[in-house]
Amino acid sequence: MKDASYFKNKLVTLRHEIFNRSRQIDADIRHVGMTTDLDDQAIELENDEVLHALSATSEKELLMIDAAIRRVDSDEYFHCQTCGETIALARLELLPFTNLCVSCAEKRESETAYS
Ligand SMILES: [Zn+2]
Repeated sequence: MKDASYFKNKLVTLRHEIFNRSRQIDADIRHVGMTTDLDDQAIELENDEVLHALSATSEKELLMIDAAIRRVDSDEYFHCQTCGETIALARLELLPFTNLCVSCAEKRESETAYS
């Protein structure tokens, strides 16, 4: 039965995974800068940028998941935040932290693509 508690469990599990992943990334970031070799430093700098980008993505995902968990608690979870239509369960299964129905998400994507 795919009800609110099913999706809440899913979100909490996902949050846990991303939280652990971002902790790992933060640990990796702290390891950068240990070398004094110039070639190694160049490589580390590149890795550092990738790690910071990953860390920013994780943080954004955590915020979206937190917001989704709040929407489950306030019974808004199954409704599109833009048009109020019910979001398809298959979509929530795939993107448990989305707050838009398919058509609003597509509209938003095409807007950002052409802006
Ligand atoms: Zn919508």
